[in-house]
Amino acid sequence: MPAPTKKAAPARKKNRSEDKLAKLGLRSDMDLVLHLPMRYEDETEIVPIREAGFMAGTPSQVEGVVVSCDIQYRPRRQLVVTIADDSAQLVMRFLNFYGSQVKQLEAGTRVRARGEVRHGFFGAEMVHPTYRVVKEGEPLPTALTPVYPSGEGLSQAFLRKAIAAAMTRIDWRDTLPPRLLEALKLQPFEAAVRLLHNPPSDVDEHALEDRSHSAWIRMKFDELLAQQLSLKRAQEARRSREAASLPVVGALSEAFLAGLPFELTAAQQRVLREIRADLRESFPMQRLLQGDVGSGKTVVAALAAAQAIDSGFQAALMAPTEILAEQHFRKIAQWMEPLGVQVAWLTGSLKKKEKMEAQARIESGAAQLVIGTHALIQEGVQFARLGLVIVDEQHRFGVGQRLALRNKGKDAGGAGDTAQTVPHQLMMSATPIPRTLAMTYYADLEVSVIDELPPGRTPVVTRIIDQNRRDEVIERVHAAALDGRQVYWVCPLIEESEALQLQTATDTHAMLSAALPDLRVGLVHGRLKPAEKQMVMDAFIRGNIHVLVATTVIEVGVDVPNASLMVIEHAERFGLSQLHQLRGRVGRGAAASVCLLLYQSPLGPVARQRLMTMRETTDGFEIARRDLEIRGPGEFLGARQSGQAMLRFADLQTDQWLVEQARDVAQALLREDPATVDAHLARWLGGREDYLKA
Ligand code: ADP
Ligand code: MG
Repeated sequence: MPAPTKKAAPARKKNRSEDKLAKLGLRSDMDLVLHLPMRYEDETEIVPIREAGFMAGTPSQVEGVVVSCDIQYRPRRQLVVTIADDSAQLVMRFLNFYGSQVKQLEAGTRVRARGEVRHGFFGAEMVHPTYRVVKEGEPLPTALTPVYPSGEGLSQAFLRKAIAAAMTRIDWRDTLPPRLLEALKLQPFEAAVRLLHNPPSDVDEHALEDRSHSAWIRMKFDELLAQQLSLKRAQEARRSREAASLPVVGALSEAFLAGLPFELTAAQQRVLREIRADLRESFPMQRLLQGDVGSGKTVVAALAAAQAIDSGFQAALMAPTEILAEQHFRKIAQWMEPLGVQVAWLTGSLKKKEKMEAQARIESGAAQLVIGTHALIQEGVQFARLGLVIVDEQHRFGVGQRLALRNKGKDAGGAGDTAQTVPHQLMMSATPIPRTLAMTYYADLEVSVIDELPPGRTPVVTRIIDQNRRDEVIERVHAAALDGRQVYWVCPLIEESEALQLQTATDTHAMLSAALPDLRVGLVHGRLKPAEKQMVMDAFIRGNIHVLVATTVIEVGVDVPNASLMVIEHAERFGLSQLHQLRGRVGRGAAASVCLLLYQSPLGPVARQRLMTMRETTDGFEIARRDLEIRGPGEFLGARQSGQAMLRFADLQTDQWLVEQARDVAQALLREDPATVDAHLARWLGGREDYLKA
């Protein structure tokens, strides 16, 4: 650095650094202190150049004197610096470099360099090593060197200094009482933090790296505890918001139940009781209804809607796809309209005039139940008295979309004393979320589970078959159809190209039509116009189509009990939960159902594991558990909803036991020790509780 700029810089430079720190979320001293290393580098040893790099993949540190420092232009511009110690020479190669580096590394300079050593044609070399100019005999660090998560233009040295300074200023007092630490065998806060920033030379490096060290455990526990405390507080806040109480289980509910062609299962009755109790409250319900595919969530949702209507309010049901929404509409309208309920239908594909009509009925309150897609949350849709919002396949919606529907209740005009209330919310999902995840993924959510299928279902038998036996499979399809049963033929998922996927579906349709001339083969895919799609689905539902060739549009919710054979091509390309959803389209009637998973060999280990799981079990929760094992929680619900995003240290998968522990401790502290709760939240969240309120 040239000297003249040095004097004027400090004030501005400080501000810029502060901005950069703020970008990393580091505003207070405590933020800095809790900015823990993401890994460590071992700079405690120097090896002779001759011995460097014998362990492939592990970096070495060497020290030598610069012999030459040149800019080369072939094959591309680069800085090539040769250093030497007593044992050998080594080349440091930089493809990006500053002019100042050329000066800094002039011959005779002593440097310490750390990086992976490769032995190439020109001898040992390091590409882009980290290096430092040193004096002869400069002492080595005695501890591991922390490496912090950083941002653009923030050097490790700067972060280290800022953190060290912050450590001299903060209040180190433990937020947790000693009794608790002892009971949980947790390290004191100060000791844990100091160790992580400056690990002693005899530390268990491995435990530090994989974060199983007791110091890490303390940090993870604190973080999870803060999360649990804050979730509970959010729950209290919800309880203080107002919702219209929907207490009436009246004529509609009773007539509806009496008219059903079946009895509710015990599990359906149980979750219905839970929902009914919630709806009576005058704070908003926020409940997730989980049940495997085919477990009968729709009827429970309809009964919740009936209670809202019985109580004089509107209910809205939103589904992620047009096919699914329409199926709900037709089924529920068929149940409810004979009982005098006005049901409105609203999707993006409606003609303008129909849309306006539907909107008018919603706004006037004439429509008591509204069923549709995302169109429900568009501007211009105003509810008169929205009391209950139901979201099907909720994980397919973003947080924002769910909130948008909830907010439709707020500024409803003409609603008199209910204008300020929030509607109750029922979310449904066939993708079961394991308990620990549910506890951390969703802020403040009650969970009801339908853990029983309606009687008379025979479990689907799953077979795994090599794609080259397709002819036999087509034979089987033929036999099933002649037997009066219907068949889904699911075309492979082609993630790279929707056009290609469409092409494959069209080809498959042509191939099957030719191979099965005596059968009616239909085709449904995402590019069909809604009316066309509906025509095909109708024909299939009425039994006029024997074999339905489909892309994954049939994945969710479609309900045709007579379909009892499913063929999935290139099953190895699908994810586990997707396969489970698809397979759930069969096994809905009394007939024994079969699912044939065709695969292209050779199978990779992950795909093999998935297909085996599908063959072994039809239990959605078990499948979800294994899916989680294979994929990890981050992908489970999409990053958008991922609770991991707000956890810096804990890992929901490896630290499940800590999640449970943190939840129990949170409950006890909230009951017995509010001062500790406040102190702990202040330390860990500062003013940032907001982002837990998704
Ligand atoms: P999902 O939970 O996957 O949304 P659905 O609500 O579509 O399941 O129900 C699947 C099928 O089971 C539907 O045809 C539905 O009418 C039927 N069903 C629901 N509950 C029962 C029950 N208690 N007994 C018999 N059939 C039921
Ligand atoms: Mg459903």
